[in-house]
Amino acid sequence: MKTAIYPGSFDPVTLGHLNIIKRAARCFDRLVVCVMVNSEKPAGMFTPDERVDMLRRVCEKLPNVEVDQYTGLVADYARLQKACTLVKGLRAVSDYEKEVQMALINRQLNSRLDTMFLPSGPKYNHLSSSVVKEMARYGADLSDFVPREIIDEVRHRIDGRK
Ligand code: ADP
Repeated sequence: MKTAIYPGSFDPVTLGHLNIIKRAARCFDRLVVCVMVNSEKPAGMFTPDERVDMLRRVCEKLPNVEVDQYTGLVADYARLQKACTLVKGLRAVSDYEKEVQMALINRQLNSRLDTMFLPSGPKYNHLSSSVVKEMARYGADLSDFVPREIIDEVRHRIDGRK
């Protein structure tokens, strides 16, 4: 069974992430979307549990997709899951440099682990979780940015913080 991991912050999951999830799920027997919890990073807008919960709702109809969270190195997590591929989405050239560096480091940490890059869907090239939060702050329609299952939750969180 070929397992891949799609790691990220997903704070919150966007339509750009979902596009990568659906495409990667077609390439592997099992895809584990993993919310990586980094104790060095400032807390996000949503807790890791909330991010997992939103991802689970969004991926509910994708039978070979699982959602998890992990505090630690993705190279170790891949070993635990017996995965030999990491999936990464590439938006602009700016993603490329950082992601290639991470891919090389991850392979150094776990020699069985390779990284597969999927180019962003054309509609989502400029989409990030930060853009979503910014749009939500200004009351923009979120339907072009986040899956419909989580629109209300994102909106309520932003409204509660104003
Ligand atoms: P961000 O906070 O920038 O949205 P994440 O850490 O949650 O990023 O992203 C996880 C992975 O998803 C990374 O590989 C990132 O390059 C990729 N990704 C993020 N947004 C998009 C998008 N709009 N299209 C394709 N890939 C994306």
